[in-house]
Amino acid sequence: MTAIPFDNSYARLPEAFYTRLDPTPVSDPALIAVNRPLALQLGVDPDWLASDDGVKVIAGNAVPEGAEPLASVYAGHQFGSYNPQLGDGRAILLGEVVDDRGNRYDIQLKGSGPTPYSRGGDGRSPLGPVLREYIVSEAMHALGVPTTRSLAAVTTGEQVVREEFLPGAVLARVASSHIRIGTFQYFAARNDTDALQRLVRHVLVRHYPDMLDSDNRGLALLESVIARQASLVASWQLLGFIHGVMNTDNMLLSGETIDYGPCAFMDDFGADKVFSSIDHGGRYAYRNQPGIAHWNLACLAQCLLPLLHEDKDRAVELAQESIDRFPDLFLQAHTRGMARKLGLQEIGEPDTPLVEELFQLMDQHRLDFTLTFRRLADLADETSASSVPMGELFEIPDALLPWLARWRERLQREETPTTQRQATMYAANPAFIPRNHLVEETIQAATHEQDLVPFFKLLEVLEAPYEYRPTDSRFATPPRPEQEVRQTFCGT
Ligand code: AMP
Ligand code: MG
Repeated sequence: MTAIPFDNSYARLPEAFYTRLDPTPVSDPALIAVNRPLALQLGVDPDWLASDDGVKVIAGNAVPEGAEPLASVYAGHQFGSYNPQLGDGRAILLGEVVDDRGNRYDIQLKGSGPTPYSRGGDGRSPLGPVLREYIVSEAMHALGVPTTRSLAAVTTGEQVVREEFLPGAVLARVASSHIRIGTFQYFAARNDTDALQRLVRHVLVRHYPDMLDSDNRGLALLESVIARQASLVASWQLLGFIHGVMNTDNMLLSGETIDYGPCAFMDDFGADKVFSSIDHGGRYAYRNQPGIAHWNLACLAQCLLPLLHEDKDRAVELAQESIDRFPDLFLQAHTRGMARKLGLQEIGEPDTPLVEELFQLMDQHRLDFTLTFRRLADLADETSASSVPMGELFEIPDALLPWLARWRERLQREETPTTQRQATMYAANPAFIPRNHLVEETIQAATHEQDLVPFFKLLEVLEAPYEYRPTDSRFATPPRPEQEVRQTFCGT
């Protein structure tokens, strides 16, 4: 019996798309965690995955039957500068599986040793970034945000050298695909129109099958990706999530969030917040995320020009029309989400000041992003029997009372019953997010005390982020000043 039912469509693309190679074995692999529900969804037996044989596969010490390991090649704009040659420098794609609903997923090992694209790096990952990605990607999934996921993680028994010696680890990452804007940039820079055409077809088959019949596949792809990214970035903004490294190689055609290096959920609101230690100019600050997504999509459009129309000017026109739709699509998705967060059926033009002033007040008084909205949900129906308010954790400050009165006045014009409104608000405003100080705490315990208990506890709390449990109040509490994490690191 094959342990993982592989069917590898990327490996069937021409050799120019990747280099075939096996992961590099490690000395003493040991299991950290297996994501049992995800394994079952993918048709992989979680008990096998947790067994010695499964651990060997995740560690890269055994290549399972049916796998066709490869490192994919791509390029990308990093902080605005084009890098013609990137690629999986510390990752190996084992292959793909088709799940019980017919959806296809990549299974990739991250931290699995050097490849031809390592550019002097060691191809390895410390334990910290593996745990961070495991926690935050699974939290994003539970929050309802499209994302890559974490299937399993192992320690390698080897040390990696960064500023200090750190335990090494490998993450088995699952994604609908790992095809990036940078993958298109790689072939566009080489004027390889044939490869671009194949790539467009491959992405449509995997992510936008309804568009395969379109007479202009390149344009259909561009429009589809623009729509998905608009909705993705809106969902980040609505949760106070800062990606931190929105390079074009970190933006997937599937519209899933990828790369949890220097990311952070903000605690107190600040539109200019930046956490990444390498983002000196604030290029990827919270408020810039929609604009950067727009810019990255323009890079994708540029790559697709030769496929859009044989007449160059017409191709540019078509690309421009598509790209110009991004701001509106983003705004629509954001406005729909804000309406749910504030318990309104719709947010119209006259409501704009109400929304804008809330963010101004949150910024001015450094209010906790997550708890402000969650508290509004509590207040949407104070007599409700089913509501579990988190009153003592967060009280609306006096400075917000005039705003609160106006919001309540606005709610009176709504027809939705109060209980239903509150339910919608609870479902849009999480109580639990992977706060930086909590993530950091689990990383420190695992790295320096070999203690994984905090990691498992945090994972469990984040499985149901929209349901407040007073017994877990510690995990909803913002950091005390001395606990606050102000900088995050790629850690690679
Ligand atoms: P990232 O910042 O994670 O998006 O990575 C940017 C590029 O650097 C990608 O091509 C990675 O594969 C490569 N890279 C990052 N860390 C390492 C490492 N430890 N060894 C080799 N390549 C790496
Ligand atoms: Mg990356």
